[in-house]
Amino acid sequence: MVELRQAGGIVGVSTPDLLRVAIIGGGLAGLTTAYELIRLTRIDALPLEIRLYEADEVAGGTIRTKRRDGFLLERGADSFSTENPAGLLLAVELGLQAQLIPAHVERGVLIWWDDRCHPLPPGLSRLADGRLGDLLRSSLMTRVGKVRASLERLEPRRQPRSDESISAFVTRRFGRQVLERVADPLLAGFYRGDPERLGIRYTFPELLELEQTYGSVAKGHRRGLRANGVDQGEFPGVPMKVTRSPIVSFRGGMQTFSDAVTEAIRRNDTGALHLGCRVRSLRPAGDPVGAAAYTVKADHSEDWTADICVLAVPQRTAAALVKDFAPEVAKGLLSIPHASSLSVHLGYDQRAARNIPDTMGCLVPHSQGRPSLACWVSHRKLDFRAPPRAALLNVELGGERKSHFLDLRDRSAVRVARKEAEILLGFKADPILTMVRRWPGSHPQYNVDHADRVEEVERQLDFHSGLLVAGSALYGVAIPDVIDNGRATARIVSNLAQTRLV
Ligand SMILES: Cc1cc2nc3c(=O)[nH]c(=O)nc-3n(C[C@H](O)[C@H](O)[C@H](O)COP(=O)(O)OP(=O)(O)OC[C@H]3O[C@@H](n4cnc5c(N)ncnc54)[C@H](O)[C@@H]3O)c2cc1C
Repeated sequence: MVELRQAGGIVGVSTPDLLRVAIIGGGLAGLTTAYELIRLTRIDALPLEIRLYEADEVAGGTIRTKRRDGFLLERGADSFSTENPAGLLLAVELGLQAQLIPAHVERGVLIWWDDRCHPLPPGLSRLADGRLGDLLRSSLMTRVGKVRASLERLEPRRQPRSDESISAFVTRRFGRQVLERVADPLLAGFYRGDPERLGIRYTFPELLELEQTYGSVAKGHRRGLRANGVDQGEFPGVPMKVTRSPIVSFRGGMQTFSDAVTEAIRRNDTGALHLGCRVRSLRPAGDPVGAAAYTVKADHSEDWTADICVLAVPQRTAAALVKDFAPEVAKGLLSIPHASSLSVHLGYDQRAARNIPDTMGCLVPHSQGRPSLACWVSHRKLDFRAPPRAALLNVELGGERKSHFLDLRDRSAVRVARKEAEILLGFKADPILTMVRRWPGSHPQYNVDHADRVEEVERQLDFHSGLLVAGSALYGVAIPDVIDNGRATARIVSNLAQTRLV
């Protein structure tokens, strides 16, 4: 049933036999929304016509893999976590079991502190204290810092009234040294953000949950690990070394994932994919307030009026599309800060590769005053990233606290990245391949007031029937969270459709 509204309220009701759903944006959020919606449509025999509009000729958004001179270059994400199993489960559904590969987490990561690299004690990478021996032997922290970190299990649990920053949470539980030397480059680093501003509730809710459930993050990790050993049965055909790895990827790169979702959509609904169709405008088909339908104007496609419209585009694009008829939604979306970053891939031949340490990478705490956030040793982190015996590095620059690096021209960015790689990893060589990729405003910052911002966007969306927002700006940045969000959005659309159809 469709409500026809005017500014003053509902003026009529229609009961169509077919509902049209437009999904704008074919990154992982839009793709999984379309994929799940097509699946639900079949199960519930819903008469829906679905169109996914993607500006690019290839769907996947920030996920894109390039091959050059035998190197495999990830433009955006290079891997995903298995802690939330949503990524693995989707890979199984898509038949990608044999393509999955584990990251070499056994190689560990290094932290740059006081002008040299220190191995990160294994447990601390998840803010569990791990084996006490590892922590005590580590050169990363002082004796006082180690003792303070190991006392985390005795710290009383606190029920914060509102969200607290990563900085406040980690300092309260583990002490200042774990914050500065571990959480800053590792946790805030994933968001390219500032631990003083990022809120723990939306960035690492599992840490808060461990504190609340077990009274301590470290204790919780231990008990949780024992209680929730991976149920291998949930992932048929996936090698144990993959399900047991906290980080995984695909042999042929992350684009394997988005390509497989795209292909599944194409197979099941031949008309759904509208690639190379940038949406230029969206306007209510009828009254501006409480519109029951939206007309989509896109390149290479006739105008189409949809009853339900899912915005799965970056926040700024979403805001621009709705600002004329839903200015408060646009304002709410724009109130969520986004950081920028720049990544520089450097490929090296065998001679140089011999001198690069056997580690997944070196992370740089902000206080060390270096230009880089991290230097990932991609070919040691994941197999199949470089030709045999060659090396591939990925130097990350920028982030919330170093945004000026985005202004560097490519040549300067390569120069800075090369120098960083050589200092952090202790070698010197000329790269045989370079690639610079800029990410302006691409990293949502879930600051301590994020819950209020999400609530405000949701409140404003309530005034616009059939208008939904999906994607990383609101509900989770990591790939498994984006998949969860896509599936959840599809369920909302399906429920909405059922109430409108008779
Ligand atoms: C540099 C970088 C590295 C990352 N690394 C990791 C990682 O290692 N692990 C991890 O878990 N997560 C990582 N992430 C996060 C994760 O990749 C993203 O959160 C996720 O891919 C976002 O998906 P999305 O669909 O919300 O947005 P996007 O991927 O941004 O998709 C939006 C889509 O909308 C399309 N679009 C834009 N305008 C229009 C228009 N007008 N009409 C039609 N289509 C339009 C775009 O072309 C794009 O395809 C990384 C993110 C970045 C930026």
